[in-house]
Amino acid sequence: MKEVFKPLEPGKVKMYTCGPTVYDYAHIGNFRAFLFEDLLKRWLVYRGFKVTHVMNLTDVDDKTIKGSQKEQVPLKQYTDFYVKAFFEDIKALNIEPADVYPRATEHIPEMVALIKTLMAKGYAYRGEDGSIYYAICKFPDYGKLSKIILAETELGRGRPGWHIECSAMSMKYLGETFDIHCGGVDNMFPHHENEIAQSEAATGKKFVNYWLHNEYLLVEGKKMAKRFGNFYTLRDLVAKGYDPIAIRYLLMSTHYRQQFNFTFEGLESAKGAVDRLRNFVRRLHETEGKDSKGKVAVLTAKLEACFGGSLDDDLDIGIALASLFDFVREINNLLDDNRVSKMEASDVGGLMMRIDEVLGVIGKVEVEEALPADIDALVQKREEARKAKNWKEADAIRAQLKATGIVLEDTAQGVRWHKEKA
Ligand SMILES: [Zn+2]
Repeated sequence: MKEVFKPLEPGKVKMYTCGPTVYDYAHIGNFRAFLFEDLLKRWLVYRGFKVTHVMNLTDVDDKTIKGSQKEQVPLKQYTDFYVKAFFEDIKALNIEPADVYPRATEHIPEMVALIKTLMAKGYAYRGEDGSIYYAICKFPDYGKLSKIILAETELGRGRPGWHIECSAMSMKYLGETFDIHCGGVDNMFPHHENEIAQSEAATGKKFVNYWLHNEYLLVEGKKMAKRFGNFYTLRDLVAKGYDPIAIRYLLMSTHYRQQFNFTFEGLESAKGAVDRLRNFVRRLHETEGKDSKGKVAVLTAKLEACFGGSLDDDLDIGIALASLFDFVREINNLLDDNRVSKMEASDVGGLMMRIDEVLGVIGKVEVEEALPADIDALVQKREEARKAKNWKEADAIRAQLKATGIVLEDTAQGVRWHKEKA
């Protein structure tokens, strides 16, 4: 259901996203969620909101405990390794870091306090096995998020840690009610449903105003699983030679509420799309054409409206990207005809930079500046002199170039030059 987004405090957004369980490297399904959340956050920032983003690190649960026991290392040592790997991965994918990454192990007192409140209010009880359980039948709203029908459900008696972890840590950093909570659709039930039940029963207040869930990721049309041989971490793909930014582009380019089918063909075309954007920006730096007589300004305004309008509409990235590539094609046509002035190119370049604050795929584009023809001729002349071992002339030309501010370096790959800093 779509509704108009209204933050609790004007101009500010408080956002919580379920983070990784740090028992292994994160896989591309995890990163689909983290990239959707990154896009959402970047878009809110683009629209002028100040976003406070909290992402938990689940560093104690059955999987982390089992892993550390298997490797016979302390739990913290075991999880620290995967926390570090996670931060390396999100950096490679150009994911903006959250403001706080609370670790479950460092928030046990907050969880205990929340459980005590729930017990005092009669929502939680100690079972015969000594564990503490939540009495979902006492929370009449149970099921409101996932639309689960309680009578049909049998909740397993699992470790309660994960749900109480997200309730306790999100409220600690964002308040008892906050704006946005995200996660994969597989987290909706029971994880998020339980977060609501625990938090709202304890505080008597609404927990979260907007829930956003991203759909599953498939690989070559199948569920991703180790046993199908189609399971990939980011590192697996990088080892195959793929650029993390192309992976970023690909995982981000399908609307978050649609199932996403990862294919290697798709990854190749994602690489092509990123290259096209980078080449376009490079070309803008080089143009010295005539004025387009207002055409560039019209196209620029159209792109701003389309790109912005589609992302405002429940983050419709597909239409946003389509409008971007239409724009690139039309400006490229003008560039072909030499009808983009330096001033216009700089306006377009500025817009591309603002758009890249959201997409995060273009980055700094290295521009190779062309040497003025007369200087280039001197560089060539010196090269010939060097080949002929005419060192005197070569040195004289080098000195002549230096006088104009061009410094030459002889490298194994041939002669390089740079402008002397003024
Ligand atoms: Zn969570």
